Amino acid sequence: MRLSSVGESILRAIKEFEIIDAHEHLPPESIRLEHKADVFTLFSHYTRVDLWAAGMPRDYWDMIHNPSIPLEKRWEIFEPYLKMIRYGSYARPAFIAAREIYGFNDVNEENYKMISERIAAENKPGIYHRILRGKCRIRVVLTQQNRTDYDLDLLIPLMPIDVYASVRSRKTVEEHAARLGWSVRSLDDYLGMVREGLEKWRREGVIGLKMSSHRFLKPSRSSAVALFDKLMSNSGKQLPFMNPLYCFLVEEMIDMAAELNMVVAVHTGMWGDFRELDPQHMIPVFERHPATRFDMYHLGVPYVREAIIIGKNFPNVWLNMCWCHIISQRLACTALDEMIDLVPVNKIIAFGGDYEIPVEKVYGHLVMAREDVAMVLGRRVEEGFMAENEAVELARAWFYENPRSLYQLKV
Ligand SMILES: [Zn+2]
Repeated sequence: MRLSSVGESILRAIKEFEIIDAHEHLPPESIRLEHKADVFTLFSHYTRVDLWAAGMPRDYWDMIHNPSIPLEKRWEIFEPYLKMIRYGSYARPAFIAAREIYGFNDVNEENYKMISERIAAENKPGIYHRILRGKCRIRVVLTQQNRTDYDLDLLIPLMPIDVYASVRSRKTVEEHAARLGWSVRSLDDYLGMVREGLEKWRREGVIGLKMSSHRFLKPSRSSAVALFDKLMSNSGKQLPFMNPLYCFLVEEMIDMAAELNMVVAVHTGMWGDFRELDPQHMIPVFERHPATRFDMYHLGVPYVREAIIIGKNFPNVWLNMCWCHIISQRLACTALDEMIDLVPVNKIIAFGGDYEIPVEKVYGHLVMAREDVAMVLGRRVEEGFMAENEAVELARAWFYENPRSLYQLKV
């Protein structure tokens, strides 16, 4: 991205910052090392959405990530679709990683084999530290992979609220109870067990719970008790995903999170029928739990303005731009610019890569996030709204201080 001279100057300052990466799905490094990395690792994860939208058949997607198929064959089926997605924000981290991590100015017919060799050679112990600490200057990553076995100096886990809240059969209850050494007969027993489960996570370093902005029903203890008892008396009973027991347990756990000093992260927007993930579904939940700190992810895309106004109206809701810069850089810049007008600067979190296996794309995403922040702040300085040193302080808050203070990180 071409920036003004003030924008460039702000960008240089941002590049010196340590970063808190406020949302990823990174597993422990050993999982990445088991992965047979090649050029298609650069086009894994979100580019899938654009490739499918462009018309790529689903089995092609599986084929390009199947290392038992020759690389040439996979490139042949991939290349026509690359032309269609290469200018989109989802693809850009792949090209940035190819250039700045692996040393290739483009990804094309001429170099895909060399890129693959290079990526395979670099897929060795220490890759997380080389990329996350070395290239990105990331101090810590907050990650959610439904596991807690991390090197906590670099990777700090959040856990899905659904592990304990989504109870759809007696079997699930019994499995949790057996694992935690509980005998669960009533809903109150179950809640006691959940509380102990959360305390265990806390001891293992978990700092937050992750949920999504579904259309929740107003929680009712009596409906939840009735459903729980029905479930326990009939081993064949299966509940649908959305049910009164689920809604009750989610909100009980939101209260427990506050008591245990955990943040509740909320996925909003984007996937599939995104109307089902409208951030506005959370408004009654945010209202009912003023003591809980919520980290609202992804600005509810496409309900961006609605999400921003929620951040304005609710003191317990933060606005986390994780995923946003690779959804659309333009959208992210517009949103950030509006957020400066609309919300206190301590409510904004600038970056979370939101990747799982392709750790090198975390760097690509971060480059884009830095550009977006520098672009928006540079323009604000040029328009006379703030001085350059104030702009740099805001950027530091968004990339480091705000996530550190929201999650009370000891870094
Ligand atoms: Zn995510």
